[in-house]
Amino acid sequence: MDIGAGAWEVDHSTPVFRFAPSPNGELHIGHAYSALINHRMARENNGRFLLRLEDIDTARCTAAFEEQIVEDLHFLGVDWDETRRRQSDHFADYAAALETLHDAALVYPGFMTRGEIRRFAERYEEDDGRTWPRDPDGAPLYPGLDRSIPESERQRRMAEGEKYVWRLDLTAAMALTPALDWQEWGGGPNGETGLIPADPKVWGDVVLARKDIPTSYHLSVTVDDALQGVTDVVRGRDLFHSTSVHRLLQTVLGFPAPRYHHHDLIFGEDGRKLSKSAGDTSIRSLRAAGCTRNDIVRMIGLEGAF
Ligand code: GLU
Repeated sequence: MDIGAGAWEVDHSTPVFRFAPSPNGELHIGHAYSALINHRMARENNGRFLLRLEDIDTARCTAAFEEQIVEDLHFLGVDWDETRRRQSDHFADYAAALETLHDAALVYPGFMTRGEIRRFAERYEEDDGRTWPRDPDGAPLYPGLDRSIPESERQRRMAEGEKYVWRLDLTAAMALTPALDWQEWGGGPNGETGLIPADPKVWGDVVLARKDIPTSYHLSVTVDDALQGVTDVVRGRDLFHSTSVHRLLQTVLGFPAPRYHHHDLIFGEDGRKLSKSAGDTSIRSLRAAGCTRNDIVRMIGLEGAF
């Protein structure tokens, strides 16, 4: 592994797919959909299929949930190649990528807390009914105030033990890259397909690492997809906009660009996105209620395909 050593080529002759759940709750039928179509695409294309446990939040992820995921996947008939990768075993890989970004002056310490960012946005909006921009997940955009703190003050505040996160300097990173895009062969929220322009600006200076969790979803997913040689990322449309950040990180870290397929989401009966606490749609409770694999396949609209 040599992060930041230069551009790698993706070998599409042996496609590599992955299913990457977080073991912080029970898998629901939306996960079943994602796992089944990923697995089928891998097998139909004579590719490899990997299982990755995204458990960087070690306070919320548990070994028991991981074992349940494994059991549910077996029940669904989904098998994987190689040993499963557990992100919490690989914090050193994410630290190496962060160091590369640090050496290239593409990250800086951000001292503003989430609460301070929220209050900043509220104060802004109290004036004249203005609206402070939100990121695609609906959180107020970080205003970038820590970016211009002089280095000596940064060093002093860090040495004094003030809490901080590492943020990507988006403007500096974008200045190093040409206009970015990605190959989408499924569909975006509006059915987009083909070459999609990446727009990382919608996220602002994203957090790449914290003190309690020394990486972030964006950083670890980018590093792992590269280290595991993933050629085809198949995941839900809720992550469509995240791909813009991933393309930027891949480019500045010298990683190749996988192809992407952002699939439809399965919604609950109330029309809302399923969550890990959506008890009656969890695979485990459906199994306990006597559902077979085929019942679940039918429930998520994949009958005929499997
Ligand atoms: N761990 C993420 C999730 O459970 C998926 C990440 C990805 O597929 O890129 O939603």
